[in-house]
Amino acid sequence: MGDFGRIAAVAAALLVLPFGMASAQTPDAAAAPTETPAPAAVAAPAPVQAACATRADFRVVLDVGHTAKSPGARSARGADEFDFNLRLAKVIDRALRDAGFARTVLMVTEGPGVRSMYVRVAKANELDANLLLSIHHDSVPDRFIERWEFNGRKESYSDRFKGHSLFVSDDNVDPKDSLKFAHLLGEQLKVRGLQYTPHYTESFMGHYQHKLLDAEAGVYRYDTLFVLKKSQMPAALLEAGSIANRDEELALETPERQQLTAAAVVAAVDAFCASQPQKPATQIARARPRPVLQTAHARRHLRRRTAEASPVAVVQSNLDMH
Ligand SMILES: [Zn+2]
Repeated sequence: MGDFGRIAAVAAALLVLPFGMASAQTPDAAAAPTETPAPAAVAAPAPVQAACATRADFRVVLDVGHTAKSPGARSARGADEFDFNLRLAKVIDRALRDAGFARTVLMVTEGPGVRSMYVRVAKANELDANLLLSIHHDSVPDRFIERWEFNGRKESYSDRFKGHSLFVSDDNVDPKDSLKFAHLLGEQLKVRGLQYTPHYTESFMGHYQHKLLDAEAGVYRYDTLFVLKKSQMPAALLEAGSIANRDEELALETPERQQLTAAAVVAAVDAFCASQPQKPATQIARARPRPVLQTAHARRHLRRRTAEASPVAVVQSNLDMH
């Protein structure tokens, strides 16, 4: 989550506060290291309970986080988050296709950060997809960064946190199913011996502190996350692990860890697919009841959404571009 940017709009002004910058401006006194939980015992992978009969019709969009031009966080050894995201998403794409999810779309977006977010969501919404999974790798706020030298270059790292995490938005068109899928994925990662990081609940995360919705599966609530909020389908974001952590970066580079994560995604997608009504995505979208807008707050919300119809031109104060 290294370069989460808070986008503030004051007239035409764009203020981008990268993750670490935002937190570096707050006092550091409250920051304390959290205990890294002991590794969970590695349990046997959960057997696939009920293969989804409509796999061939079910479309998953695998959203590769960031772009080549705006590559996200930098790893402890100086690699770009985008490269980690793309590599893992390709492994997941292959695993889903091998499992019969032939309509899976690997979505790679180009261009600079903010503009790419609008392009990303517009593309996803055109795909008549049943589910969106955004693939990212995590970093830490700047205050936790330490320096070391790797291959003769000065690099930044933090070994303080490790583990994956999942995020959903209550402002998504279908928050219930978003959480359902994130829960399934968290459970599948857990049974494969992978442990989520609990540190997003800590006050020292400041703006990036999030409510843990599902303590079993490691699912946090992040309402303003752009790709989750704007996608017209159930959506979740996976931070697959911390590339700022020197040990975890090495683990995340291994095909074994990538396959483990991919297997968890396939099992979760399959269980989610099996739980859905057997209709094409477009019919599900049409059948989904629209929220009734009655309150003043809701009317303001509607006006704001109308203003958003012109992409790129309107930059909002209440969205996190990631
Ligand atoms: Zn990211």
